[in-house]
Amino acid sequence: QANLDYIRSSIKTIPNYPKEGIMFRDVTSLIEDGKAFAMSVNALAAQYKDKHITKVVGAEARGFIFGAAVANVLGAGFVLARKPNKLPRETVRQSYQLEYGEDELHIHKDALTADDHVLMIDDLIATGGTMEAAVKMVRSLGAKVEDAAFVISLPDLGGLAKLQALDVQAYSLVSFN
Ligand code: 5GP
Repeated sequence: QANLDYIRSSIKTIPNYPKEGIMFRDVTSLIEDGKAFAMSVNALAAQYKDKHITKVVGAEARGFIFGAAVANVLGAGFVLARKPNKLPRETVRQSYQLEYGEDELHIHKDALTADDHVLMIDDLIATGGTMEAAVKMVRSLGAKVEDAAFVISLPDLGGLAKLQALDVQAYSLVSFN
């Protein structure tokens, strides 16, 4: 049984990281705690166990940790959304805005088909730029995005609203204002 207060308390907050004025929610402290990690993965997977998810998509790097673990519980495949020049086969790509400048994610073109029901996973949603890019790539391959799930949401930063505008249902275990 998931204890959301326990999960929440396992997340350390680092003030002024990576720069002045940012409260960094450090999910690595949760992952380092076996009980918190297991509860988080199982609680995320439980939301989707009857939804016939065929693939989980997770973004580099912390999305891999939760995404692969959730995919394993659901018996689904795991698809990596990676930074440029990492994936060996042909890819689709999507650039997105960072606070300063731009970044890009790639997914293997043959990793998803129109028959796939996809659950998107990341550790945290802030502005939603990362997840928006991942959703666009999945849809460009014809697969159906069912939902997006996060361990942590920072609702003040607008990411959940961005997903709503994309018609993606979002779920998170804990949120910080
Ligand atoms: P977004 O694209 O929604 O603005 O940012 C989300 C991405 O940035 C996620 O992949 C997440 O790993 C990373 N991120 C942004 N802020 C934080 C934070 O406070 N803590 C952690 N762990 N990751 C963050």
